[in-house]
Amino acid sequence: MNKYITIIGGGLAGCEAAYQIAKRGIKVKLYEMKPKKFSPAHSNKDLAEIVCSNSFKSNLLTNACGLLKEELRRLDSLLIKIADETSVPAGQALAVDREEFSHKVTESIKNNELIEIINEEVTDIEDIAKEGIVIVATGPLTSDGLAKQIQEITGQDKLYFYDAAAPIVSKDSINFYIAFYGDRYSQEKRKEETVEQWKKRLEKQKSEEQSYINLPMSKEEYERFWQELVNAEVVTLHEFEKREIFEGCMPIEIMAKRGIDTLRFGPLKPVGFDDPRTAKRPYALVQLRQDDKQASIYNLVGFQTNLKYGEQKRVFSMIPGLENAEFVKYGVMHRNTYINSSKLLDETYNLKTNKNIYFAGQITGVEGYVESISSGLVAGINAVSKLQYFEKRGFGDGEKNHGDFGNEEKNSEIVFSEFTVIGALAKYISTFNEKFQPMNANFGILPELEGKKIKDKRERYMKLAERSLENLNTTFLI
Ligand SMILES: Cc1cc2nc3c(=O)[nH]c(=O)nc-3n(C[C@H](O)[C@H](O)[C@H](O)COP(=O)(O)OP(=O)(O)OC[C@H]3O[C@@H](n4cnc5c(N)ncnc54)[C@H](O)[C@@H]3O)c2cc1C
Repeated sequence: MNKYITIIGGGLAGCEAAYQIAKRGIKVKLYEMKPKKFSPAHSNKDLAEIVCSNSFKSNLLTNACGLLKEELRRLDSLLIKIADETSVPAGQALAVDREEFSHKVTESIKNNELIEIINEEVTDIEDIAKEGIVIVATGPLTSDGLAKQIQEITGQDKLYFYDAAAPIVSKDSINFYIAFYGDRYSQEKRKEETVEQWKKRLEKQKSEEQSYINLPMSKEEYERFWQELVNAEVVTLHEFEKREIFEGCMPIEIMAKRGIDTLRFGPLKPVGFDDPRTAKRPYALVQLRQDDKQASIYNLVGFQTNLKYGEQKRVFSMIPGLENAEFVKYGVMHRNTYINSSKLLDETYNLKTNKNIYFAGQITGVEGYVESISSGLVAGINAVSKLQYFEKRGFGDGEKNHGDFGNEEKNSEIVFSEFTVIGALAKYISTFNEKFQPMNANFGILPELEGKKIKDKRERYMKLAERSLENLNTTFLI
């Protein structure tokens, strides 16, 4: 068994993992294919390249990503420390000078005596995993050669996805004077029912089927919305994305441009519902689908989009019922490579079928810079703990490590409390989910607070933040 840990991918997750491992006195071999080979979105030869926006999002504790950053600061994250050091003015957000950030991370990793950087593309993880522990952190644009092998190891049909995610809003922010629950067709007023009987039935159903929320629109509301949608500003795509993006999915704004009624015959079709306010079929209808177990967040069905974030907020808030919607996640469209972690990984980002392999970063289905850093930290400290456990057990042959060694091995795992964002994210991606989709930091993935629901959002988020920091385990820090 190797006495070092191999990391593949020197991005945000890989660099954080390398630092955490070296900090614990263990050697690291960090493979990064740049500058020999670049993914279509990478262009800087440094490690930890920021490929798009320079924002690490809010710094406020009342924002889940802000809270995650604070957790990471307390856990001595190298990358968040450097992000703080290289920050540029951005109000309440943490935005970084992209070049300086990557340069400083590179210097810090290069100057660490325990870390060896090898500029090679890796296409075979299995060989490495036979000899020791490996963390795969090759990101959303994992090279084709390696993606093929990951597909084989994980037994997945395909690995390349277009991340065509629709925006997600928090349920609490939806206006229920307009919105109503219910599945298509069960909501239509039956011929034999009076309006009163029908309303009573809807009320009863409301508590039974809460997986869909419906937002009816009048003709005027729909036409105003359509007008703004077709004229809204979109994100400029990378060349490689332009070539491939429309093959598997159609952004809502493109569909809308085909004609004023296209959406009414597609995702906004009003069929199967009557508006509880008028007892008549609405002109158009937007459906929201439950997105988490607790039913605290809902996605806008069929609203995969390439609109700029600000435009999404402006245009989608025009939908009646979403006037004050809180967008916990905006829609995105870019190539993404991720494994079905909900089947494959445990809460330490360890592959269930081969204990020598960890995954970290966007490839696990966490989404975003800070989220990727957090998974790198968890995978890194757990890889060390596993190595120490294997050494104690005297394992020499990696092949023997493919299995479950019961409580003793379990005790070597460092699992963060689900009350923390770092723990909730790890739990989210490793909990079985038939429609597994990438997830970013948001309060919807944390367990509800005990006791009576606090109405004021800011106050509630502050309480969640306080609970998280109280439950953050820092006892293993060295
Ligand atoms: C086009 C695009 C835009 C994005 N915009 C944003 C944004 O605005 N905000 C945000 O928070 N997130 C954004 N993301 C997501 C972003 O990529 C992640 O948040 C973050 O970079 C993921 O970190 P990571 O460490 O998992 O992967 P990366 O940071 O991508 O690092 C992976 C590294 O692995 C290397 N590598 C790949 N294959 C191999 C191999 N076989 N052998 C050796 N090395 C390899 C790559 O060269 C790369 O350096 C975007 C992603 C894409 C693709």
